[in-house]
Amino acid sequence: EFVLYHDQYVKKQDAVIDMEDRGYNFGDGIYEVVFVYGGKPFAMKEHFERFISSASKLEMQLPFDAARFVELTEGLIQKNDLKDGMVYVQMTRGASPRNHLYERDMKCLVTGFTRHMKPPEDLHKAGIRVYLTDDIRWLRCDIKSLNLLGNTMAKRLAADHNCHEAIQHRDGTVTEGSSSNLFIVKDGILKTHPANNLILNGITRQVIMKIADEQGITVEEAPFTIDELSDAHEVFISSTTMEVTPVIQIAGQLDAHYEIGDVTRTLQNRLKKKIHGSAHI
Ligand code: PMP
Repeated sequence: EFVLYHDQYVKKQDAVIDMEDRGYNFGDGIYEVVFVYGGKPFAMKEHFERFISSASKLEMQLPFDAARFVELTEGLIQKNDLKDGMVYVQMTRGASPRNHLYERDMKCLVTGFTRHMKPPEDLHKAGIRVYLTDDIRWLRCDIKSLNLLGNTMAKRLAADHNCHEAIQHRDGTVTEGSSSNLFIVKDGILKTHPANNLILNGITRQVIMKIADEQGITVEEAPFTIDELSDAHEVFISSTTMEVTPVIQIAGQLDAHYEIGDVTRTLQNRLKKKIHGSAHI
């Protein structure tokens, strides 16, 4: 197995990270996860467009353009002969004597690795339990930052309650999962939190909204409350690794059960069609 280190493919044990890399000291960096199906990455271009947008929001200098990132990532997939799984690419601001103050012209460090895995078809079928909790994260959740403590704490809490994912809310407004976006369906209308600073604008989320449009399903990008979540007919989460996964139960600050409905199944099946139909959205 090779890893990506700058623009080289090296053995994992040969990749050296400086003790004072800002990614290591401050979580000063960004990342993307792309899923690979039958050797083909899905929506790779969109992932690297978001990567570049995250870099720009943090004033990080890109060592490569989007096309080169795609090329290097495709090379890693081939080198590791990855058929089904994920490829992880991150970029930190690089190394300098530890200091909160960052310089804008630092040489960023790109690294990446692959992992064999299959989409969780059993969960796609059966649905999952989720745990509703406070969103304790910062106010720039639109950046796909390496700083994920709010997310990891929420995920741990959910797992401790036998739930697969944490669903977060700010003062009663439901935002997103710890590593996924959330959709509700009420009277056939699909609703999800607007893509602002309070959520990560998921690539899967964007594909789902496009599919909904194609299917004549009304989509509202609007904030919704815990009460609306409670009254929803269908609930599902979306992400690169979970695709469309139905929610059948909410625990924690809400106690609710849901059937897996037609809208969820339609979007789930259409997404799978898109994934297996072509490498582009
Ligand atoms: N929100 C958060 C906080 C996430 O970590 C993720 C997964 N990267 C998502 C949403 C879903 O994004 P995507 O569909 O691009 O995987």
